[in-house]
Amino acid sequence: MAHETKKKFTPRLVKNAAPAKASGRSVELAGWGRYPIVRGNERQSEDLADITRDAVLTRGLARAYGDASLPPAGDRNVASSVLADRLLAFNRNTGIVRVEAGFPLMRLNRFSLPRGWFTPVTPGTHFVTVGGMVAADIHGKNHHVAGCFGEHVRSFKMRVADGAIIECNDENHDLFRATLGGMGLTGHLLEVEFQMERIPSPWIWEESEQLPNFETVLERLEDAGREWPFTVCWSDFLVTGSNAGRALLMKGRWAKPEEAPAGLPQWRSAPTFPIQLPSWALQTWMMRIGNFLNYTKHGAAVRRHIVHPETFYYPLDVIREWNRVYGKRGFTQHQAVLPAPHTHRRHEQYLRLLHDLRAKVFLSVVKDCGDEGKGMISFPKRGVSYALDIPIDQGTQQVVDRLNDFVVAEGGRIYLAKDAFTRPEHFRAMDPRLDGWNEVRRKWDPEGRLKSALSVRVLGDRA
Ligand SMILES: Cc1cc2nc3c(=O)[nH]c(=O)nc-3n(C[C@H](O)[C@H](O)[C@H](O)COP(=O)(O)OP(=O)(O)OC[C@H]3O[C@@H](n4cnc5c(N)ncnc54)[C@H](O)[C@@H]3O)c2cc1C
Repeated sequence: MAHETKKKFTPRLVKNAAPAKASGRSVELAGWGRYPIVRGNERQSEDLADITRDAVLTRGLARAYGDASLPPAGDRNVASSVLADRLLAFNRNTGIVRVEAGFPLMRLNRFSLPRGWFTPVTPGTHFVTVGGMVAADIHGKNHHVAGCFGEHVRSFKMRVADGAIIECNDENHDLFRATLGGMGLTGHLLEVEFQMERIPSPWIWEESEQLPNFETVLERLEDAGREWPFTVCWSDFLVTGSNAGRALLMKGRWAKPEEAPAGLPQWRSAPTFPIQLPSWALQTWMMRIGNFLNYTKHGAAVRRHIVHPETFYYPLDVIREWNRVYGKRGFTQHQAVLPAPHTHRRHEQYLRLLHDLRAKVFLSVVKDCGDEGKGMISFPKRGVSYALDIPIDQGTQQVVDRLNDFVVAEGGRIYLAKDAFTRPEHFRAMDPRLDGWNEVRRKWDPEGRLKSALSVRVLGDRA
């Protein structure tokens, strides 16, 4: 491939939002949910290969909610990729790009959009690294048509547990599929090469509508997925009665050139939430009012407009470090996929269970998932995904346990990138693919050198 941009250094636009920013000394580390907090010896360097030599794990911008990006307790060495953030190659004709693993999606978007290309799959925030996107095998609003990010990855360079550095693709190594969604437990990603998507214009055509209850949400989400590449529902799971689960449905596609404004979209400079609020500051009644206003403000008519991709894909990035509103207690996200069909009664039962548990679901995003992809333990499978933000209190473990009982019974599974509370027996029961993945993992790391707080908690690794 023609290397048009070789080792070009561009200034970093993204600050590492992880609570700890020290290099090479013991610091407190946390994920986006600010729970749990673990002490670790975090090292940062432009030379990622160097700092991964004796690290148990590599982490990126710490946007996984729970403990996936944390080393096991006990001051273990963990490599941070955030300074290894160079764009290594980009072919403007084919859209093939190669980056260092710490390259942030935000910079990729700003670079590629004016050139007529965009990432084929994006999560709901652009403050993530490409390494993190591979390790979690992230999915987006287009999973039903594009699959996970891993479907678009051509190869990566990684340091494996015995210290060797290998170039890995789907033909030469079983490690490739084990690494997609493998949460950093198969090796340290150093460089990633993937295929971008050609876009007709840099703008998004969006349609949105109110859905008055959960039955309509399931019905319309499925219908919309047949026509639209990007679909998502922002549901209200705090409201009860006949309006329970009501939502705003957003549908989108890239605008055609004749629909798009002449200029390029201007990227915003988002302010940072200035302080950590006290844990009691955000209350359920406030979220009820917020959800109500958000829903009613939209109005009953279908809205159609052209929007900035940033507005469409990353509404939560409008304020940086918004996780501070949850205070010291932190929050978790329980994201589960329940199998299709959408009409199955399990979906209504799930909503009822949330109400019975009086779960404080402050924010909930409902999405369609398409078929399973290449990743050996990647999260999505055909069905409906429910991502529920829940502030942490004494009842959280019990809520997660009860939700997971249900997910197991219904043949669903949870997303490790969001998790902080799932028990090993639940995860094992959810994922029959685990043994196959463990086999590949152990083949490459027989001594169990690579590990995380999550792998100790959920997968039974020795701390
Ligand atoms: C607001 C918000 C919205 C989100 N929306 C979505 C969504 O729509 N879809 C979705 O799929 N996810 C979503 N996520 C989750 C997020 O995309 C993933 O957790 C992603 O992995 C975060 O990337 P990161 O660079 O912050 O990685 P980190 O959080 O730092 O790490 C995540 C995992 O990747 C591993 N990892 C990171 N870098 C490397 C590397 N170089 N080598 C090996 N392993 C590595 C870590 O060990 C860890 O297991 C969202 C998160 C937030 C905060």
